[in-house]
Amino acid sequence: MRPWFALARLHVRCRACGRALGARHDESGPDGLGVALCPDCARALAPAAGGRCPDCGRSFRASETADHRCPDCLARPPAWDALALHGSYEGLLRDLLLAFKLRGRLGLAGLLRALAAGAWQRSGHAAPDLVVPVPLHPARLARRGFNQARELAVGPARALGLPLVPGAMRRIRDTPTQSGLDAARRTANVRDAFVSEHRLVGDRHVLLVDDILTTGGTLAECCLALRLSGARRVSVLAVARTPRHV
Ligand SMILES: [Zn+2]
Ligand SMILES: [Zn+2]
Repeated sequence: MRPWFALARLHVRCRACGRALGARHDESGPDGLGVALCPDCARALAPAAGGRCPDCGRSFRASETADHRCPDCLARPPAWDALALHGSYEGLLRDLLLAFKLRGRLGLAGLLRALAAGAWQRSGHAAPDLVVPVPLHPARLARRGFNQARELAVGPARALGLPLVPGAMRRIRDTPTQSGLDAARRTANVRDAFVSEHRLVGDRHVLLVDDILTTGGTLAECCLALRLSGARRVSVLAVARTPRHV
């Protein structure tokens, strides 16, 4: 008789597209994260090759394969001390993040958490003391029912064995959605929108987690609030970066 776990394996489905995987599949997923994926999805979700700016995460044209600081970041360093991300906000990764956030497909949380945790572990950055998700305003949280950044932040917090502290930061203004605004308007839109708790972040290294990094305006405002509360170091982790080439 087959042991129960061998039987269960026959019903394993790809965590991204739902295709039945049968008994033989690659359980390692991207970076050996232990997520069941079909070969197509594993390929589509593999961390992007090619050069990126380590500070802002923007990718270079295909001819540039090495990471190096882009001219913008050399002229004006970002608000955070270190950045990690999984890949570009396009293709399957974009579809999954949209389904998760806007259509409430919470079954995707495990896969997206694994991508977030893998991105941080791959980065090799110094270990943080606590993990803090970018907060939603209570009114928006009530409308959506969950904070996607908080759900994703569970991944790195568990993988690193660190406390997840959503209460370390609050959003005090219910700003209009950032989509459709240009970079300058996005920055103005989120100005003074966040406060953080000195007793929770003072003299600590905070890992700030969000789903998507676009212009970085929201994350920069969060970094500012954390530093005003005495955070010693702020690292940023986003699952995806909008693909704007330098
Ligand atoms: Zn698949
Ligand atoms: Zn840059």
